[in-house]
Amino acid sequence: MTAQATTQPAPATPGTNRLQAAWAKASPAIRDFFVHVLGQVRILKKAYPGIMHFMIFWGVTIQVIGTVINILNMLLFFPWVITFPRGTAYLYYELIMDIAGVMILLGVTMAFIRRLFIRPKYLETRWDDYYALSMLALIPIIGFITEATRLLSANPPWRAWSPIGNLVANLLAAMGLTPVGAVQLHDILFWTHAGVALILVASIPFTKMRHLVNTPLNIILHPRRKTGEIEKIKNIDEAEVLGVGKVSEFTSQQLLSFDACLNCGRCEDACPSTISGMDYSPRTLIQRTRQRMVDSIGTSKPKSDEEIFGEVFTDSYAWQCTTCGACILRCPAMINPVDEVVDMRRYQALTSGKVPKSVADSLRNIERQGNPWGIPAQDRLNWSDGLNLRELAPGDEADVLYFVGCASAFDDRNKKVARSFVHLLQKANVNFGVLGFDETCCGETARRMGNEYLFQVFAEQNLEAMSKIKFNRIVTQCPHCFNTLKNEYPQFGSAYKVQHYTEFLLELGLNQFLSPDGNKVEGRLTYHDSCYLGRYNQIYQAPRSLLKMADMTPIELPRMGENSFCCGGGGGQMWLETDPNTRINHRRLGDALEVKADVVATACPYCLIMFDDAIRSKGLGEQLQVMDIAEVLERRLAV
Ligand code: SF4
Ligand code: SF4
Repeated sequence: MTAQATTQPAPATPGTNRLQAAWAKASPAIRDFFVHVLGQVRILKKAYPGIMHFMIFWGVTIQVIGTVINILNMLLFFPWVITFPRGTAYLYYELIMDIAGVMILLGVTMAFIRRLFIRPKYLETRWDDYYALSMLALIPIIGFITEATRLLSANPPWRAWSPIGNLVANLLAAMGLTPVGAVQLHDILFWTHAGVALILVASIPFTKMRHLVNTPLNIILHPRRKTGEIEKIKNIDEAEVLGVGKVSEFTSQQLLSFDACLNCGRCEDACPSTISGMDYSPRTLIQRTRQRMVDSIGTSKPKSDEEIFGEVFTDSYAWQCTTCGACILRCPAMINPVDEVVDMRRYQALTSGKVPKSVADSLRNIERQGNPWGIPAQDRLNWSDGLNLRELAPGDEADVLYFVGCASAFDDRNKKVARSFVHLLQKANVNFGVLGFDETCCGETARRMGNEYLFQVFAEQNLEAMSKIKFNRIVTQCPHCFNTLKNEYPQFGSAYKVQHYTEFLLELGLNQFLSPDGNKVEGRLTYHDSCYLGRYNQIYQAPRSLLKMADMTPIELPRMGENSFCCGGGGGQMWLETDPNTRINHRRLGDALEVKADVVATACPYCLIMFDDAIRSKGLGEQLQVMDIAEVLERRLAV
């Protein structure tokens, strides 16, 4: 046997494979449990409520563990017995329990201050918020007094190890409580303490305290798709109900997620639709659905079996979401309102047919012409006149398949961007080509407008065309196409490497083709993070690095990176008629004006259109312009 042969790993047994598969499945849930339940990482993203909740959570957790140890020591649950810590361990036990009690009291005090005095706009207060806080305050307060009477009556030498209990004991003694009186009081307090704790436990299912159980459960059980991926309707031709029109049609995991909602309002605080004044909020979406679910419990004619449109939500409700994903990333309970929005839209688009007229028009355009603009499909290549673009035919090979996308092919402003991008590729001698007339809409808009049929047809059509040529990677210009091809086409068996053009150009080392003598964009430039590039695909640095390559260091907008504010064009919103008073793009333009930008750079055709529209409707064309990064780079090309 050769030395090489002896180093070969032993083939995995079926048992090992099963174990590995089980671990691969369970590890994200375990990770989320440690990071988001125990570590409270997402909750801590907002400092004040984060620290407040962290203290209450860990204070309560430690107290519960300590109490369980204490109870098991009492032989109440024989044969499950724990020997109570003795000696030094007992002293630490006492100290830790005191610290935990203080943590609860500090956290609860912060919570009262927040609800009574700070009162953030997004925070709704209901009776059970005060109930939960009062009970949480009462338990450690009674606990400390109980402990004090114990210390006062027994006067142990270690009483300093219970600093708060000791302090209260000294106070009670100063007030005239004798050791004999303390013994009598101790029993009353002990049972009161236990009684209040039991009432709190018993009220968990009926109050906000249910989140102690439901939220960790949802964090563990929430679907683990890629962030930008919408669930596929499998066997769509055989499905009896498409989408969700009744609460009872949501999956059991979704119903759990509604019950896991803390009503904290973080989603609402980040939602561009709510912030812009639309009659919509992801929190309301979740809370109203939950209420409908709760109202149905134990009734003979459950409301959850009745249609939600009309009584609970207007027909236009779900169409106000831009699917920007800001709420998903903020929610400490890992609830995904976009899933509910898409489910409701699917019902309206495919089952009831009650969709806004502009949605119906766009879907018809996509169906007939293969693009939401409704421009004849035979015009798909007009943008490239004179560029000598290589159209890949079946059997052809190229390094890069440039997936042009509908916006670049049909929108006049974005056609210029596509031309700039092609110039960059040509300058860098990239071996690339396009699908030409075999390319059709990636289906993203149709899918987010609820028409899963159309999406699936287009996905299969594009993949069929791609299967006939050979290439190493797909490069897209539009983050929406990018997200769909990268995260959603694998649902149809695609395994292609997909890159956004900013990633690709950076990898290409484009700087060698740029020249300091090229035209530099003048003025203060800022960069707007597209939701589908940033939040959904974590591409934050590549666009910024490219701008630096072009000698433009962007001034950051106040809402940037993960906290970027949507342009208002995603999720099919670009095609919807909106109230001029609630336009999201006008708000986002306000951010750019706030930093006194002369140029807004984007890397998304939808963002470009939305900014352009806002600039024009505000009459600010002289003051501010919007450019794609490809255009900024093209100017710097060496001549
Ligand atoms: S995805 Fe964006 S627009 Fe939709 S509910 Fe969430 S935050 Fe609001
Ligand atoms: S959905 Fe999430 S972020 Fe929104 S209120 Fe509920 S728990 Fe808070």
